[in-house]
Amino acid sequence: MLQKTLLVLTISAAASLAIAQAPPGGRGGGKGAPKAGQTVEKIRQLKPNLYMITGGGANTLIRVTPDGLILVDTKNPGDENYNRVMEEIHSVSNLPVKYVFNTHHHPDHVGNNQKFIDAGATVIALDALKTRMASDPRTKDIPGLPTQTFAKDYVLKFGGATVEAHSYGRGHTGDDTMIYFPDLKVVMVSDQITDATPIVDFANGGSAVEWTQILDGVLKLDFDMAIPGRGEPKTKAEVQAYRDKFATLISRAKDAIKAGATRETLAMQVKTDDLGWMFNGQFYGSLYDELAKL
Ligand SMILES: [Zn+2]
Repeated sequence: MLQKTLLVLTISAAASLAIAQAPPGGRGGGKGAPKAGQTVEKIRQLKPNLYMITGGGANTLIRVTPDGLILVDTKNPGDENYNRVMEEIHSVSNLPVKYVFNTHHHPDHVGNNQKFIDAGATVIALDALKTRMASDPRTKDIPGLPTQTFAKDYVLKFGGATVEAHSYGRGHTGDDTMIYFPDLKVVMVSDQITDATPIVDFANGGSAVEWTQILDGVLKLDFDMAIPGRGEPKTKAEVQAYRDKFATLISRAKDAIKAGATRETLAMQVKTDDLGWMFNGQFYGSLYDELAKL
């Protein structure tokens, strides 16, 4: 208990120091100020004992338990992001962060892992996430590889809360992990659902063909709120609609190839404007390659 108290004091002191040292008008307006969405926003309550912080990278979730906090995703690397996240967390709880889950290896989701590890947290993620974080040129120099890994599914029971992590296949990357809070009926779907055109990181194991398989796994869970990597929470109906849109895209691409589309012409022969998505030529090339292998 003494150790815990000391840890909290240390974190608070570090956070206050960083705030005191921040340049005047550092966040908000001013010359060279980050664009909207790049700064860490105010913490918001989503459900009892569940909070979200947007901005500074991907959405961060905070599950509060009487024994400490469980986080999902650690934003873009940088002291400013970490200190702001801790400042926001301290406005709702002074308990230490004990566990961190990463939803995939991209920098805006794993950027401050090391700072949480240094403060005493265990970072839990897929084996594949650790491997890709260590090899992707965008993340290989970011410290904070996961400290506890698993192959496919993981259940954390801590402070009376249960958190499940599931890999249902490849989609946005090859290491997408769905984080489920069964008692709250909330699932973090990360970049598997986007407000903009979906992005498939083919170079890092991503798959357009398996994308719906992940959402099918999600849709089998009992939830009423899905949290995307960026943007606002979605309903289960919205997840279903997104899944169906993606299935439409894939079936149109298959039909186009059956009708003679080539790697070069596929982009011209698949309609997506009614889906609200606009993919580039590179995407269609990789999609063609995936479908040609089936
Ligand atoms: Zn991503």
